[in-house]
Amino acid sequence: MSDSSALSYVHPSPTSPWGTYLSQVDRVLPYLGHLARWSETLKRPKRALIVDVPIEMDNGTIAHYEGYRVQHNMSRGPGKGGVRFHPDVTLEEVMALSAWMTVKCAAVNLPYGGAKGGIRVDPKTLSRNELEKVTRRYTSEIGLIIGPHSDIPAPDVNTNGQIMAWMMDTYSMNTGSTATGVVTGKPIHLGGSLGRVKATGRGVFVTGREAARRMGLDLRGARVAVQGFGNVGSVAAELFAEAGAKVVAVQDHTGTLVNDKGFDMPALMAFSRDQGGIMGFKDGEKVDNDAFWDVKCDILIPAALEGQITAERARKISARLVLEGANGPTVPEADDILAERGVLVVPDVICNAGGVTVSYFEWVQDFSSFFWTEDEINQRLDRIMVGAFDHIWAKGEQHKISLRTATYAVACERILIAREERGLYP
Ligand code: NAD
Repeated sequence: MSDSSALSYVHPSPTSPWGTYLSQVDRVLPYLGHLARWSETLKRPKRALIVDVPIEMDNGTIAHYEGYRVQHNMSRGPGKGGVRFHPDVTLEEVMALSAWMTVKCAAVNLPYGGAKGGIRVDPKTLSRNELEKVTRRYTSEIGLIIGPHSDIPAPDVNTNGQIMAWMMDTYSMNTGSTATGVVTGKPIHLGGSLGRVKATGRGVFVTGREAARRMGLDLRGARVAVQGFGNVGSVAAELFAEAGAKVVAVQDHTGTLVNDKGFDMPALMAFSRDQGGIMGFKDGEKVDNDAFWDVKCDILIPAALEGQITAERARKISARLVLEGANGPTVPEADDILAERGVLVVPDVICNAGGVTVSYFEWVQDFSSFFWTEDEINQRLDRIMVGAFDHIWAKGEQHKISLRTATYAVACERILIAREERGLYP
């Protein structure tokens, strides 16, 4: 890890999210040419705001939650990135997530920098009233630095369209006019975009389809295992099933189910939506969570949280193709093991970029107050994702490097060219 890890306010380990990010940047330095002199800029967030979020609970007590908004890099445009509500959120995690947003937006060539936010809270323990209060107070506190032209939040783990609606309303009340462009992932009748809910999962499918084609892996009959059955994992799994693949293992926070014949995806999705998890679905055999990593499959989709593919798990994964729906699911040592074993990894910074791409469409539509059809959205998404994937694949072939390093090479070059052309002020 480089000296720049010595920021005084975080203490990353090699496998922690920020430590993982730093080592990913180090790996790309040899491919940056003269731009490498600007590389330190990638290892330092531009701005990190920590806020106290106090609310009065339904029972009259006062609770305080810690919230963050980190703007990692804004050389190419306003900050863009989701807001995560999770009891384990830390500043370091939000920093890494914001940095991955910088790389992701540049990898698909969107005119954005990277940002991310979070609150250390388990939203499942809050009433709807308390959830709204937490969301609004947090939005007010970070209102100092967000805005349609400065930093545009979106949903992430445990946040959704309703939370985006409250954020948009709070920001609009504070600034005195309706600002639909301040967040994306909003409900459709509040300036949201058709296709946004499924966009990340669709992008995972599109990049997976492109990778599979190049590997000669036929999707018809391919065995798919998915960890995380939320917004990203369930949609990606559904699209693979529609393309003829068999989803043979699913894991979420309630447990792990396997089905050798392949799950009935619409039925499993409906069950999980109604019950808040997959456990109890009748057509699946319950197995230990650890057994998930032993399931025989061709395609593995980690779509839950970061740090899930450890070195130990990487040694036993049977898939030929790993599609990183989640952010940061593979630690660097595991990345090397997968590469040695000939497993192709489509990295998060391109694989799950479908969400931010349609967020960009939403933002553009909000400014022009002119909305596209779902077909138009999906076609544009497909075109952008395929174009970005082609470019990254060619970079990988040119330098004989992993797709992750190739994605970083393409993205970091764009970010640092912008940095150099803008120059340092003063
Ligand atoms: P979500 O809240 O909709 O779903 C998360 C899923 O992960 C749930 O099924 C949950 O049960 C499962 N999960 C949580 N903890 C788990 C554990 N310990 N073991 C197994 N499963 C567990 O979240 P999401 O929006 O689908 O996001 C999932 C990942 O994708 C995150 O890493 C997120 O940053 C990333 N991502 C999301 C988007 C988006 O548009 N939603 C975009 C890019 C990246």
